[in-house]
Amino acid sequence: MAVQRTFSIIKPDATNRNLTGAVNAKLEAAGLRIVAQKRIQMTQAQAETFYAVHSERPFFGELVEFMTSAPVVVQVLEGENAVLKNREVMGATNPSEAAEGTIRKEFALSIGENSVHGSDSEENATIEIAQFFSGNEIVG
Ligand code: GDP
Repeated sequence: MAVQRTFSIIKPDATNRNLTGAVNAKLEAAGLRIVAQKRIQMTQAQAETFYAVHSERPFFGELVEFMTSAPVVVQVLEGENAVLKNREVMGATNPSEAAEGTIRKEFALSIGENSVHGSDSEENATIEIAQFFSGNEIVG
């Protein structure tokens, strides 16, 4: 598997609890390199666009409200098989189902406030990275 890039977000529940560094330590220990990173306040429009695939789900409003409730850290991660590797270190969406040692097992508060986002495919990673970063902000 070649070197890939994936998109990551450290969500408001984690930034609120000052866990940015703790999450980054887990990502780096998993062999992922943070090649771009910035702390932003996501707007409602950005959150609605980002999670458009979930717009018909009952939790959509709650999700948008959560993602705009406090700053987030958006990131580009690089490494061998980065999309899958990041999904592995994140753990399952619901922290009660997440494996030991994963970010969500250790830090997530609930299925909604689950500390991190990670792209689920290389195709979506490309789309998500482009929503938040221009090419010259990514330095591998
Ligand atoms: P992910 O790829 O593991 O982040 O999971 P999904 O793509 O299925 O869901 C996207 C995000 O929506 C999750 O990370 C949660 O923050 C949120 N979410 C998913 N399911 C629920 C739910 O049942 N309730 C609430 N409040 N939020 C949810």
